[in-house]
Amino acid sequence: MPEFAPPVDHLDAVLAWLAAEPADDPVVDLTELRKHLDLPASQDIVGTQRLQALDLLRVRALETILTEKGYVDPAALDSIIETYETKVGPHIGAQVVARAWVDPGFREALLADASKAIARLGLEQTVGDHLIAVENTPTTHNMIVCTLCSCYPWPVLGLPPGWYKSFAYRARAVREPRAVLAEWGLMLPDSVEVRVVDSTADYRWMVLPMRPAGTEGWSEERLAQLVTRDSMVGVSYALQPEA
Ligand code: FE
Repeated sequence: MPEFAPPVDHLDAVLAWLAAEPADDPVVDLTELRKHLDLPASQDIVGTQRLQALDLLRVRALETILTEKGYVDPAALDSIIETYETKVGPHIGAQVVARAWVDPGFREALLADASKAIARLGLEQTVGDHLIAVENTPTTHNMIVCTLCSCYPWPVLGLPPGWYKSFAYRARAVREPRAVLAEWGLMLPDSVEVRVVDSTADYRWMVLPMRPAGTEGWSEERLAQLVTRDSMVGVSYALQPEA
């Protein structure tokens, strides 16, 4: 998508305009948006980009106000963003899953209280008070969603992917989870019970995916390579070992 950088002195106008717009209205007047963003009439802004532009504007406006009022330090914000962009990511969750696959005691502790179990591994747990791990088995498949907004287990998975925050995923995951999974190539037999878990600001969830067959005797490090972000959200299986 294009870079949007509205001049700061336009923020008041943008804020007033946004305040008058319904938050989720996709039919925003493009002429107005261009005017407020100072974009030439030829600049093409369509569909999702338009919504993303609005989100960016809201974030920018909020950040400016909070900074001006002294509530947040821009350097602290930058450092948080850098941490989640470069240091915290699904590789952490993958280590947790791999450990649970090889260590039954840890698996039990993880399923009993994921926050405590992960803290004992020395991994940082900074977002949300309670992380809960749910186990996928041959008879039960859990998938995670936040129907309200985009609550996600940041400390173990990093930043949420765009689709996780989309209206479509949030609505369809609860209404027709099997269809959503099937579109992503995960066909679950009718005999498998699907549980959709709704995250909140207080309770974040992660999925402990099934350990792939043919990985007996593998090291944790090697196993972790099979654990994908999507498998820990419950929208796919862990990768199969290459034959
Ligand atoms: Fe949320």
